Amino acid sequence: MAGQSNYWSDHVADLAPYTPGEQPRVDGLLKLNTNEHPYAPSPRALEAIRAAAGDGLRLYPDYDSVALRQAVAALHGVDPAQVFPGNGSDEVLAHIFDGLFRKAGRPLLMPDISYSFYKTYCRLYRIECELIPLAEDFSVRASDYASHGGQPAGIVFANPNAPTGMEMTQADIELILRAHPGVPVVVDEAYVDFGARSAVPLMARYPNLVVVHTLSKSRALAGLRVGYALGSVELVEGLRRIKDSFNSYPLDRLAQAGAVAAIEDREHFEQGCRAVIQAREELSLSLAAMGFEVLPSRANFVFARHPGRDAAQLAAALREQRILVRHFKTPRIEQFLRISVGTPEDCERLCSVLAGILTAG
Ligand SMILES: *Cc1c(COP(=O)(O)O)cnc(C)c1O
Repeated sequence: MAGQSNYWSDHVADLAPYTPGEQPRVDGLLKLNTNEHPYAPSPRALEAIRAAAGDGLRLYPDYDSVALRQAVAALHGVDPAQVFPGNGSDEVLAHIFDGLFRKAGRPLLMPDISYSFYKTYCRLYRIECELIPLAEDFSVRASDYASHGGQPAGIVFANPNAPTGMEMTQADIELILRAHPGVPVVVDEAYVDFGARSAVPLMARYPNLVVVHTLSKSRALAGLRVGYALGSVELVEGLRRIKDSFNSYPLDRLAQAGAVAAIEDREHFEQGCRAVIQAREELSLSLAAMGFEVLPSRANFVFARHPGRDAAQLAAALREQRILVRHFKTPRIEQFLRISVGTPEDCERLCSVLAGILTAG
């Protein structure tokens, strides 16, 4: 398609839209490419969505998502006024970039390798960003952020990081928060429920901390589009001003009802996370036994490279055998594959197909 058009606004030609992983339109493919949950969402959430799908849809939803904000607040032990929900955490992040990071002459700091949507938002909102390289072992080096001179507009990183899956320590996050009071520090915890430690308890001591969560991964509700940010009342008020200048009803009735029920079904949630964590540990061992270098993951995916095989070719060979994994043509990580953790059966199928590809030479 054309890179520009006379119909478009001035900045549209310069955008660099995010490319999501393939969502196949044919059946029978094993999808290990977009980190969806391998098991079904909470039956209580599905029931709540069915119950909400009635005459009430004639009416606008609660623009303030009061019940959802209360459920999230109870889950994390914060005040409902500290909860900012949105139509997927991608939308929440977009409002964060727009509402907290657009400050003239001050750069946004983020890792060179992280969730690639961050760079897309920088283009969209014309935010100058300064990429801080990950360390040699692909960890985020907190001291690089803490010792950064000047006043950044903000700092954003994912913990566990995407697509490495690696976790930062609480002490490292605190180092960054302490070094930059008055600067919003956004921790995207999309994968935190798979065994990492959440930064939420630090909110009581650091009013500059914003934590972002999603129901897409650990609550198996990617199709419902619900995410939220947690932060001080002052920060959240800024985000609400942005939201109400954009779309005051971002969460429909079905999404609000389903999200509340999913959050309240703790048992289903914990069981699902445990199953994924166990499958991840087994998958990591199997891949290592096949000669892969596997980064230590606290997410629902693993990031691995094979010393003797080109990652793009491996991904293509897997695709031929009806298995989708994610490959990024990004410098430093172009020899890695990101593989979502499926059921034990999914992981076995992946490993046996991979073993076949590797022995075929
Ligand atoms: C999946 C993901 C998101 C987006 O989640 P949605 O709530 O589905 O929009 C945000 N950040 C990271 C790091 C993710 O991996």
